[in-house]
Order: sequence, then C-alpha cells, then structure tokens
Amino acid sequence: MPPAKPKAIVLLSGGLDSSTCLAMAQEQGFAVYALSFDYGQRHQVELAASQRVARALGAAQHLILRVDLRPIGGSALTADLEVPKGREPQAMAQGVPITYVPARNTLFLSLALAWAETLQCSDIFIGVNAVDYSGYPDCRPEFIQAFERLARLATRLGAEEGTDFKIHTPLIKLSKAQIIAKGAELGLDYGLTHSCYDPTPPGLACGQCDSCLLRLKGFAEAGLKDPLPYA
Ligand code: ZN
Repeated sequence: MPPAKPKAIVLLSGGLDSSTCLAMAQEQGFAVYALSFDYGQRHQVELAASQRVARALGAAQHLILRVDLRPIGGSALTADLEVPKGREPQAMAQGVPITYVPARNTLFLSLALAWAETLQCSDIFIGVNAVDYSGYPDCRPEFIQAFERLARLATRLGAEEGTDFKIHTPLIKLSKAQIIAKGAELGLDYGLTHSCYDPTPPGLACGQCDSCLLRLKGFAEAGLKDPLPYA
C-alpha cells in the first residue's frame, strides 16, 4: 500500500483562483481538505461552484462553514452597496476596492488553522494573488508570513510540538493568464467555477464587475475560451 498522502487544507471559494490552487495542491501530492465559507456573500452561487469543484477534483472532505459577516458589513459583497462595473484595469489597481471584505483572509485563515489543528495537518493553501490586482492588503506576502508566525504561536501544535505551519500561496506571483494556463494544464474544468461578484438572479456572471473583467482578460491573454455563459 502506498504511504498516505500528507493532508492540506485548501480555502476554496469556488472561483477561478482557489479552484486552480486546489488542483495545484493535489499536484504537489497532498490529500486535499477543502474549506468554504457561507459568509452572507451576495454571490452565493459560488458555494455551489465550490461543491462542484471539490467533488470533481476528489477532495478528501469539503466543509462549508457558516460565518455570517453581513452584520459587520463594510463591503459591497456583504452589504447593500453597489458592485463597481466596467472599470478599467488602472482604476482597479488603485486603492483598496469596495469589494474588499474587512479582514476576510485573516478570519478565513484563522478558521482554516483551527481545522488544521484538529486534522493534525500543518499545510494550508490559499489562492491569493498579488500581481493582477494588488489592492487587497490581506493578499500580500508580508501578511502571509506574519500569519505563519501567528499560527505557530497560537496553536497547541505549534507551542507543544513545534509544528511549523506553512501557508502555501502558489498563485501569488502568477498573472491571471498564467493561473488559467496552469489550471488548464492540470485538466481543471473552469466551467465548474464561478467568479462574478454580482451574478444575475439565475446565477449568470455579469461580465462587468472587476472579477468578471479580470477573468475574461485572463482567458483572452491565455488564448483560451472561458466556458462560462455570461449575462
Ligand atoms: Zn461579474
């Protein structure tokens, strides 16, 4: 019998980046434990996408945690604020966008860390990316390194067993086109994923929000066709 694969938790939103990140974790030889959050996001359809992706790729387990961030608000994704449409890439690159969810990656990584401790695993994957879109402070390498230090200090595994938690960010230096090319090479069906921040009631991507525009630009630059239907 081959030795059991090491476990890794992968934060899986059901979007293009996190789905590619999951495929890359498997490529690196990990048994993947997918973690998604029902946080009151206006694009709830991404949870269905996360289930499709976790199932199609054969995750060892898929957990969807409910953490309602709507009472905190402060983001166009969780409060009644307009999602920006039709922005130019230069405008997207400026400042922290309204679609930033306050401290989201800190919250999500903390919950992933809690699950990692119970699973006795020290590897967590997150599909953050600092190239195409650097407006999110919690996508920076400095943040990830600081979280690794925190993880060691904050847990029994770290304190008693000296476990060094590793936060893997395989996408951090890739462009959207490179991410798509990588996923395609690994056989990921992007038709399973969902990226739109503001889908139509039946769940179609709008084609106009920052996330849709970056996705479409990425496919164009990768020379591939996005299999998703758009409104
Ligand atoms: Zn959209």
